[in-house]
Amino acid sequence: MICDMTQPIDLRELDLFAFCRKGESAAGEVATRDLPRILAETAADAPASAPGEMFAYKASGFMREEAAEPGAPVTQRLFLDLDVDGRVWLDCQRCLQVYAEPIGTSMRFEVMASEETADAAPMDDDEIDVIVGSKRFSLLELIEDEVLLALPVAPKHAVCPAVHESLVTGADGEVEPKAPPEEEKRPSPFAALAGLKTKH
Ligand SMILES: [Zn+2]
Repeated sequence: MICDMTQPIDLRELDLFAFCRKGESAAGEVATRDLPRILAETAADAPASAPGEMFAYKASGFMREEAAEPGAPVTQRLFLDLDVDGRVWLDCQRCLQVYAEPIGTSMRFEVMASEETADAAPMDDDEIDVIVGSKRFSLLELIEDEVLLALPVAPKHAVCPAVHESLVTGADGEVEPKAPPEEEKRPSPFAALAGLKTKH
């Protein structure tokens, strides 16, 4: 067993308020098979190992105490930072072949006590999303949400391994100009893709 400074947590039932108030953090991996909405997005002809693809996550909670103005009552604001990295097997819309889309997201959330306070929260910061906390919060669902949001609207290889004959001569005009010579020499485009990290 790997010794880790972070506490083991229940990803499906986390006391998010306590997690943030105590400034706790957690890191680990979740499998695609535990994220049903990602599994549903996975290409039908993905490798048999696709449900076992792992997403690495890191979650850190923290609290800020602040007064709206000097002398005003101090209020506690809770925040959660969440990073998720992994990949999802998708069908390329250009060459119709399956490929692994690298996923890398990094988000900060302000944790609200209820729907009412979340709705009333001023949207004064584009960088911070508002979520409603719970004593039985599913971090697993939040991880799944973030991966879903990171999926491309139009999945495509960065560089298609080969353009199918029917596409070259097809009427849709999706003809690739010659690929950069450097790309053609690479033995496996998947190997190159696996190293890519995309920040959104
Ligand atoms: Zn492609």
